[in-house]
Amino acid sequence: MKKQLKLPIFEIIKHLAGKDNLRVYVIGGYVRDLIMKRPSKDVDIVIIGNGIKLAEAIAKEFPGKPKVTVFKRFGTGTAMFKYEGVEYEFVGARKESYSKNSRKPAVEKGTLEDDQNRRDLTINALAISLHPDNFGELLDPFNGLQDIENKLIRTPLNPDITFTDDPLRMMRAVRFACQLNFEIFPETLKAIKKNKERIKIISKERISDELNKIILSEKPSKGFKILDEVGLLPIIFPEFIALKGVETIHGLSHKDNFLHTLQVLDNISKKTDNLWLRWAAILHDIGKPATKRFAENGWTFHSHEFVGKKMIPNIFKEMRLPMNEKMVYVQKLVLLHLRPIALVKSEVSDSAVRRLLFEAGDAVDDLMTLAEADITSKNERKVKLFLKNLQVVRQKLIEVEEKDKIRNWQTPISGEIIMKTFNLKPSKKIGIIKDAVREAILDGIIPNEYNAAFEYMIKFVNANDLK
Ligand code: ATP
Repeated sequence: MKKQLKLPIFEIIKHLAGKDNLRVYVIGGYVRDLIMKRPSKDVDIVIIGNGIKLAEAIAKEFPGKPKVTVFKRFGTGTAMFKYEGVEYEFVGARKESYSKNSRKPAVEKGTLEDDQNRRDLTINALAISLHPDNFGELLDPFNGLQDIENKLIRTPLNPDITFTDDPLRMMRAVRFACQLNFEIFPETLKAIKKNKERIKIISKERISDELNKIILSEKPSKGFKILDEVGLLPIIFPEFIALKGVETIHGLSHKDNFLHTLQVLDNISKKTDNLWLRWAAILHDIGKPATKRFAENGWTFHSHEFVGKKMIPNIFKEMRLPMNEKMVYVQKLVLLHLRPIALVKSEVSDSAVRRLLFEAGDAVDDLMTLAEADITSKNERKVKLFLKNLQVVRQKLIEVEEKDKIRNWQTPISGEIIMKTFNLKPSKKIGIIKDAVREAILDGIIPNEYNAAFEYMIKFVNANDLK
């Protein structure tokens, strides 16, 4: 079968391959995505012979002559260059053999067949010839094309060996099943279950990389459910498994927070591609197992938002996720996730809205998106009503923000002003005075203006003898 190849590079390679009689193929993800009509940003080229020389010859033919970077990895050496946002990688065909304690194989030069044998999945083992003799011909020794048609994830060779050799492939299999909405072939699934413990030899960074790709899929719950089914989830993310299950006392049950969280994650994924907002959905109830109590009227999870916020640094550390402003953002959303709903229940006062704007700052829109995604009742009427109520809160947030400009707001009275006015040295008192002014503005006791705030400060200091 012939495939239409559109990128100009393929014509250049065809020409050079013909001239030097080189066997060259485009292989892997690019071919899979071409067949599935998905966009692709990486092009992997395999050469029977020296990849580096070919990469250099090709780059010379490109306008602007992109710079070729050479890596010594994989024994045979790899060369790559970038052109118009696409990354081209050139590598000599290779054969791999694995040892028990490492996913890094011994590598030697090989044939195209050897190179296809070492691929993780049949859908990733497809190659297209770039030699003029059979340009565009699809080489598909493992029926990858058929597996694409049948939406199947399957290893080219014995899955037990494939996963023992490189356990990261288990994560990749689940990730592709989730990203492409494919099913994992029964024998392949069985082999993942059998080899799950071997995931421990894989670096946590690589595991999280795959997990993040699952999280960024259209319907991430599918990936999490497979990870759970095969037994990988308890190993890579035990805190998440603790959300599982329903307990019943005196006929009163709480909801399954694992399934609830997955639904919240799917809901939010329809609204945003922000990985960290999706992580906030995953973690919003993570404090529930630790705070679960049975009280007179049923189950409670008091302060689960505080406990959840506190659990996040450990989870991020353990998973090698970035412990920077992204984490602080996730923590903020987890801590505040109940607040928009609380505003629905009460008469929405301006001061409550101001307070939320102040505490959420720039994350306030994302917080509303999370609160909306958190509504997972089976009762459609209830969902509609809650969403409508949250819409009212959104409107109110806009109105109050327009009026008071609280988002990213600094109190008009700085510590500097306080110290100068009362001739004070830096001390606890400054914080007390500053907080009092801020609270008075947030509560609407005084307007958000310098003069009113200054006057209030004087009164407060005198009344509390703080000079
Ligand atoms: P994506 O770009 O979505 O990650 P991809 O298939 O291009 O998909 P890469 O990680 O770029 O993924 O890998 C390129 C190709 O290399 C794959 O299609 C596959 O053939 C092969 N491959 C990658 N990782 C492995 C692995 N761990 N074991 C075997 N083959 C692999």
